[in-house]
Amino acid sequence: MINESEKIYIVRCGETALKGDNKSYFERMLVQRIKKFLSSYAGVRCERVDGLIFVRTPLDVPEEDVLRRVGRVFGVDSISPALEIVIDDMSAEEAIDEVGRAAAGYAMGLIEKRGIKTFKIDARRADKAFPIESPQIAKRMGAYVLKGCKVLKVDVHDPDSTIFVNVRRGRAYVYEGKVKGFGGLPLGTNGKGLVLLSGGIDSPVAAFMMSHRGMYIDAVHFHSFPYTSDRAYEKVKELASILAGYCGRIRMHSINLLPIQEQIVQHCPEEETTILVRRFMMKIAERVAREEESMMLITGESLGQVASQTAESLVVTDAAVSMPVMRPLIAMDKTQIMDLAREIGTYDVSIQPYEDCCTVFLPRHPVTKPRLEKILASEAKLDCEALIEAALAEQKIEVIYQRDFE
Ligand code: ATP
Ligand code: MG
Repeated sequence: MINESEKIYIVRCGETALKGDNKSYFERMLVQRIKKFLSSYAGVRCERVDGLIFVRTPLDVPEEDVLRRVGRVFGVDSISPALEIVIDDMSAEEAIDEVGRAAAGYAMGLIEKRGIKTFKIDARRADKAFPIESPQIAKRMGAYVLKGCKVLKVDVHDPDSTIFVNVRRGRAYVYEGKVKGFGGLPLGTNGKGLVLLSGGIDSPVAAFMMSHRGMYIDAVHFHSFPYTSDRAYEKVKELASILAGYCGRIRMHSINLLPIQEQIVQHCPEEETTILVRRFMMKIAERVAREEESMMLITGESLGQVASQTAESLVVTDAAVSMPVMRPLIAMDKTQIMDLAREIGTYDVSIQPYEDCCTVFLPRHPVTKPRLEKILASEAKLDCEALIEAALAEQKIEVIYQRDFE
């Protein structure tokens, strides 16, 4: 009997499935995340069965929405809307007949929806107690489909549709495509990190990549109000809300760097402005991270991309803090970063042309090979501690929730 009382999705876990003794912990975390991402719908159920997760929703929950939301849950490798056939009180022959007719009906639907002309069957028998083996199941399913849909032909090499049939204990599933997820590990399985979030292309991608490995994300953004506008701040908030669609809510600290920049410009060599500002950013971020119980800082730096990201500059920037600094984009090219930004939906917002605090007081010839002793000597001219304290005292904190995006 076809289960027509709910919609069913088969969710495959990526690396979570490989986690040995911790497998059950990772799967439970994944189920929790899936439920959370679907929590705006009542009556959603999730169950773990032999390494798969079955999501069941009421009939009126739109399929595209479930696919989009679950596809964004880190740890999900792929997801398939499936037809469920209940076979637990049937003999093997009866079950084959029932599933065969369901597969034929399913294929008919594909003809109506997409006009498919050719198909192949990919059959699996997850329940080894079921007495008919996979190749045999495939053959018989093919026969049912051919009989039920006279216009269809089998093409095992390049079919318009591959129809999967999966016979499990008491239930069989018929489905077609797999919608790819991002893989990775479920959120919350790898601590929390603080991303230095600018309005640019890189830092949102960096946050995404770390979160993709199971890390909760908070953010700190530096502005130079009134040189930078409210609109520039809104843009960063929008980026954070897109990110929140993957990494859950984000606590965003915003901090005015202008007083520090002014001091640097007044007292330090012009060519060192950028690197000095960057070291202040790192130091302030480290304090925020400790307040928020974040374990690491995350930046969107990529080796050699700009003067402040040469190997020498990165060493000097790194030396400003003792907390580990994650730079997931370090070895990526800009084109690769841009591709990922497009894929996760941040690109179009990132390229909106609003001013960034780094472009205020931009030196004409920034140092590309700074030496730490020289930089420390310049910093010694400033009351760094007081400046950092003052900046932190004025910080604003906002909690950013997910904005649905298409
Ligand atoms: P992005 O595209 O992320 O802005 P970028 O190529 O413009 O990067 P930089 O401006 O040198 O590079 O910044 C390097 C990193 O420093 C950024 O990826 C981000 O993590 C951090 N950063 C830069 N500006 C800010 C800011 N205004 N607020 C918070 N973090 C910042
Ligand atoms: Mg930037």
